[in-house]
Amino acid sequence: MQHLTLNNGVTMPALGFGVFQTPPDVTEQAVTSALESGYRLIDTAAAYANEREVGNAIRNSGLPREDVFIGTKVWISDYGYDQTLHAFDKSAGKLGVETIDLFILHQALPGRFDLSTEAYRALEQLLADGKVRAIGVSNFMPDHLDALLKTASVVPAVNQVEVHPYFTQPAVQAADAAHGILTQAWSPIGGITSYRGTGTGTSTSTFDDPTITAIAAAHGKTPAQVMLRWHLQQGRNAIPKSVRPQRIAENIDIFDFQLTPAELDAIDALNTGTRGGPEPEAITLEAFGRDIPEA
Ligand code: NDP
Repeated sequence: MQHLTLNNGVTMPALGFGVFQTPPDVTEQAVTSALESGYRLIDTAAAYANEREVGNAIRNSGLPREDVFIGTKVWISDYGYDQTLHAFDKSAGKLGVETIDLFILHQALPGRFDLSTEAYRALEQLLADGKVRAIGVSNFMPDHLDALLKTASVVPAVNQVEVHPYFTQPAVQAADAAHGILTQAWSPIGGITSYRGTGTGTSTSTFDDPTITAIAAAHGKTPAQVMLRWHLQQGRNAIPKSVRPQRIAENIDIFDFQLTPAELDAIDALNTGTRGGPEPEAITLEAFGRDIPEA
């Protein structure tokens, strides 16, 4: 497994495993399968309602705690200094861990940016207290990063955003790079283009895209493997999700081939500019707020 070094010197596996929409009753099995296949980075969130099952799988794997990098996210309903400190207790309690490796804000709250900055101040405190090893954000657009950095004393280590061949967000990636923030790609194989039907290129899903399937055939690999290799070779972290052991193994079997510069460019050229996820500027407590249970 390759590693990436975050801006605070902490290292993180270059490829991870996501559990968004993985129901709690299959999460332990999926994460167990991922750990058996060699993944050592798991990405969950308070809002996914499966942190407890992620923690069970990691504990039951018998792997030393320090061998698995755990990332989780604070939901917007828990933003605010004291609320976000407590959100750490809720997530760490459900995961059954003392320390969270990467703790990030799940969304900016543009209409209540004061709550986002207070939440981030709590992350800085958790970092100073050694309760988290790195902090960051998710779905922050360049103007959100600029606003946060006006008050932040720690530059986020990571910005987790939607990046797949049909939506590459070059401006966000450039802003991240300019600030020394690692871009972590969510929906990295374009899952959202198939389960939400947002594909607008020559195919409706990245998995069926003719450019990607042709590159895959040329290397004797699958479309998912080609997309993950594209992220890795461009320096992004990627966290594909699956509940199927065969796909989980397929998605980590990407360290035995290399895409050419022309192939990387051809995949970049598939960007349609059409977002699959919610518009970050439209996130409000009224529309997206939800109670996150105690541990
Ligand atoms: P992905 O790009 O990882 O795609 C997942 C989808 O593709 C699932 O439907 C899965 O189905 C299917 N799939 C997985 N592997 C393959 C394969 N090899 N061939 C064909 N189909 C495959 O999308 P996600 O949206 O799940 O994103 C990944 C992770 O990113 C999430 O789990 C979460 O951790 C994070 N995320 C973060 C967000 C944020 O706002 N910060 C938003 C969305 C995601 P099946 O399970 O049946 O195999």
